[in-house]
Amino acid sequence: MNTFPLFFKFTDQPILIVGGGEVAQRKADLLSRAGAHITIVAPQISHEIRELLGDDKHSLITAEYDKQYLAGKRIVIAGTDDEALNHQVHADCQALNIPVNVVDTPPLCDFIFPAIVDRSPIVIGISSNGKAPVLARLTRARLETLIPQGYGKLAKLAGDMRDEVKSKIPTLTGRRQFWEKAFEGKVSELMFAGRSVEAEQALKQQLEQTHQQLSSKHGDDEQANTKPVGEVYIVGAGPGDPELLTFKALRLMQQADIVYYDALVSDEVLDLCRRDADKVFVGKKRSNHAVAQQNINQMMIDAANTGKRVVRLKGGDPFVFGRGGEEIQAMRAANIPYQVVPGITAANAAACYTGIPLTHRDHAQSVRFVTGFLKSGEPNQGFDSLTNPKETIVFYMGLHSIERLTTGLMDAGRDKDTPIAIVSHASLPTQQVMTGTLEDIVAKHEANPLPTPALLIVGEVAKLHDELAWYGEHISDSDQQAHALNMV
Ligand code: SAH
Repeated sequence: MNTFPLFFKFTDQPILIVGGGEVAQRKADLLSRAGAHITIVAPQISHEIRELLGDDKHSLITAEYDKQYLAGKRIVIAGTDDEALNHQVHADCQALNIPVNVVDTPPLCDFIFPAIVDRSPIVIGISSNGKAPVLARLTRARLETLIPQGYGKLAKLAGDMRDEVKSKIPTLTGRRQFWEKAFEGKVSELMFAGRSVEAEQALKQQLEQTHQQLSSKHGDDEQANTKPVGEVYIVGAGPGDPELLTFKALRLMQQADIVYYDALVSDEVLDLCRRDADKVFVGKKRSNHAVAQQNINQMMIDAANTGKRVVRLKGGDPFVFGRGGEEIQAMRAANIPYQVVPGITAANAAACYTGIPLTHRDHAQSVRFVTGFLKSGEPNQGFDSLTNPKETIVFYMGLHSIERLTTGLMDAGRDKDTPIAIVSHASLPTQQVMTGTLEDIVAKHEANPLPTPALLIVGEVAKLHDELAWYGEHISDSDQQAHALNMV
């Protein structure tokens, strides 16, 4: 570590910036946000700097640099395009022992401006010690995505309550446990969900409970650590590629005490759950109902009632053929707090990863998501409403009934030449696509069946796959003929 990170109070501190252009402006912007009194000295000062530092607090001096301007300054920044002048400023500062930064010139810097993640009052500074500023910025980008925006508000709330907590929880261990519970449980979740008033109430309630336990005759340090309030998170895990998870899904997965997951949740996604969490498979395969929905609901309720944070991890989006609605109805009835996190539904993933836009100004003005899972013996219904040639239809759970679905559409009047695509394992490395028409797809698929999960995309847009495909394997007509003729 050849520079040391310190967080310096610049409020009302005098700082000199030599230079009046863009470089100076960037530093002025940062330092003015930290509350510094900024003096700019340069023969020409840009319009932008004048706007930025327009109030009386700052001084703009239109003049050549002179070392008289260094007097009394806490730090100095040289950001001119005159190398000799930059060296001069550096030498003058050294003589007066004032820390100086010559922008983009590491050997002439006593201190470095880090890349900053600002969740005030939480602030993170990242430095590569001038070796790889781009890498520092990329590190920053990663942290930005990991740290919820609500962190700052959470820290502020904690700051506001700090004295009260100190007076009500006398021991250090007790306070540590109290804050851990607040930052990892309901209080933080409420804050991250934008419900700051409720977060404050929850924190006060948690403090009262802890306080009461401490003052009861059995109260001791151990008891201050009350059980966390259980909650259920119904989380969309997307189509399989872990990169398609939302930040929120990932965060909640990493907090889970127990995870109930479906057959469609990929191993790669499951691996991202908290290592210590119990992982319970409750998947339903088409013919084999592993765990009845009612039992899944009950398992979640029981776990939440023992104080656990329960993640219900579902393929795709919980509210698209995902029974998410039924599950939260059960949670409501049992008075269990819950949140629902959207996921990328299979239709969206399949569309993007195959180059089949679901809508397109020339081909489709609307799109429908329809279940293709027809209970045996049930008459085909609803095909009459699926005949609009300018509408895309996505059938979920339709591969097994592809013959009934295509025949049903043609019987209802949809053109037999309507393009159709079967997309298997959308977004996964094993993705495969087969295209054809309502008339010929069944025979094609029989000759070369694709594995489930798969969905069907019906409509003019399906033919765009040939032109726009960019991912995975495509079984085109010519491929199929070539395979048949043993040409490849
Ligand atoms: N809630 C899920 C859908 C569950 S229904 C979602 O929003 O995606 C299950 C059906 O989704 C499967 O039969 C299949 O049609 C489709 N499906 C799910 N994942 C898929 C994938 N990776 N590729 C293609 N289809 C998929």
